[in-house]
Amino acid sequence: MEKSIFEKIADREIPGYIVWEDEEYIAFLDINPLAYGHTLVIPKTNIGDYIFEIEEAQYSKLMIATRKVAKLLKKKLSCKRILVWVEGYAVPHVHVHLIPSLEAEEMLENKRIEISQEELKKIQERIIS
Ligand code: 5GP
Repeated sequence: MEKSIFEKIADREIPGYIVWEDEEYIAFLDINPLAYGHTLVIPKTNIGDYIFEIEEAQYSKLMIATRKVAKLLKKKLSCKRILVWVEGYAVPHVHVHLIPSLEAEEMLENKRIEISQEELKKIQERIIS
């Protein structure tokens, strides 16, 4: 199977601004950042493309690595908080976005939708039934 672009960064086959790594995980700067210091944390091998479908132990380890990197970024970049974002539609290699932030972000605020109490109730029923 062809290596993902992120595996190639982990293997130093293509350039990446690596900021942290251990044996199994690596973090590097996003090439098209949403904020100063926007970082991606990945497992070095491609274990899947959707975070909630990887094995529980892998998920836990990825989150522990993510926490380490978030603490490093907060300390070194003097920001208020590190936001966590997982999407994965563009690159099929599981990754967590870490976005340093100085104040409440508006990127998701702008996407909020109006919803009635009735619709909220319907959604709740659909999920719990
Ligand atoms: P997602 O798959 O979560 O939608 O987004 C993929 C992310 O990977 C994007 O934020 C994009 O800027 C970043 N990205 C895509 N290709 C590269 C690359 O070659 N190098 C780096 N450092 N980041 C990349």
